[in-house]
Amino acid sequence: METSIALASRIHALECSACGQSYSAFALQRVSACCQMPLLAVYDLHEPLSKASICQAEGSMWRYREVLPLLHEENRVSLGEGFTPLLTLGTLASRYNLRSLVLKDEGQNPTGSFKARGLSMAISKAKELGVRGCIVPTAGNAGVAMAAYCAKAGMQAVVAMPRHTPKAFKEECYWYGAEVQLIDGLINDCAAWVRQTNANGELLDVSTLKEPYRIEGKKTMGYEIAEQLNWKLPDVILYPAGGGTGLIGIWKAFQEMKVLGWLAAETKLPRMVAVQASNCCPLIETYTGRQANAHHYVGKPTIANGLAVPRPLGEPLMLEVLRESRGTAVSITDEQMVEGMRELGRLEGLFVAPEGAAVWMAARHLLHTGWLRADEQILLLNTGSAQKYLENVEGQY
Ligand SMILES: *Cc1c(COP(=O)(O)O)cnc(C)c1O
Ligand SMILES: [Zn+2]
Repeated sequence: METSIALASRIHALECSACGQSYSAFALQRVSACCQMPLLAVYDLHEPLSKASICQAEGSMWRYREVLPLLHEENRVSLGEGFTPLLTLGTLASRYNLRSLVLKDEGQNPTGSFKARGLSMAISKAKELGVRGCIVPTAGNAGVAMAAYCAKAGMQAVVAMPRHTPKAFKEECYWYGAEVQLIDGLINDCAAWVRQTNANGELLDVSTLKEPYRIEGKKTMGYEIAEQLNWKLPDVILYPAGGGTGLIGIWKAFQEMKVLGWLAAETKLPRMVAVQASNCCPLIETYTGRQANAHHYVGKPTIANGLAVPRPLGEPLMLEVLRESRGTAVSITDEQMVEGMRELGRLEGLFVAPEGAAVWMAARHLLHTGWLRADEQILLLNTGSAQKYLENVEGQY
């Protein structure tokens, strides 16, 4: 019996995102040893690879396996993540006189958020590299996704979550058999507990950007956006940025597709907008020059749990994406998020997470200021379903 089916992954190295030093893509890695910063996967993209190589039979993010890091098929840990629909928001578009408004609905992923993409990839690679158990500090969705994929892979799962996280997130982790530690504070306090508990490094810490593969799962959103729009990109993409893997990942995908020739050389890449919660907006504070960086930023809880990330490790990479794409950063209050949830619910039949609602409210704000024009193609990323957030918004319809 054939025990190992090699995939056609083009991965060849990992690279320190701060200084470019190269690391093996075939050994277990965490952050870079040189700068203690995120490692990014590098692929051989100059050898021709036609769009026809996209596996059409695969209705998931795994259709792009050549540009993903997994080497052997039997290590894939999948629950059907990715290839989510791109929905046209016709009613909102006509109400606000917009030429084209689309929403990529990541709420339809396994475990109800786009965290499924990143954790499917990270847990698959962990399995491939012989890891026995994983640990993560989480605002909610990442923990649920890690617990599910660890269950599927037969791995131990330890999740550290703020005590104030809605019950549905905790409850779902228990159903997957994970150990859950409740922490007083935000995700950075959970991260401190994880560092202490896992000081011997026995478990793989899959915190955002502390291992190189969650971002590789998240980048598939960029490939899908291009494929679903027939290889023409929108003018603007709005994304709710916490740790920033989606923002950085989508931008990475666009760069890769340019090298592959999947995007025409003259393709204008979208302006990328990072949306944060007013209660926790470290990126906006740095972007607008009110602080040098987020190293000492103190955030408050928000109903958009996924945005309560006060000190993101990937801050420099996010700022680079905003600069390179000529994008911007916007913060939205919790009250505005509820208003956005109401509008998307009543006019489009969508029950989006507060993070997704924030993105729509940011688009409205940028249309109002003139930064966005009504004749541009606008893509909103709804990163999760509202189901698990009921406690945060109950009765506010
Ligand atoms: C985690 C999360 C975010 C933020 O994603 P990052 O990749 O950390 O920027 C946004 N929305 C939801 C629903 C999330 O769970
Ligand atoms: Zn370095």
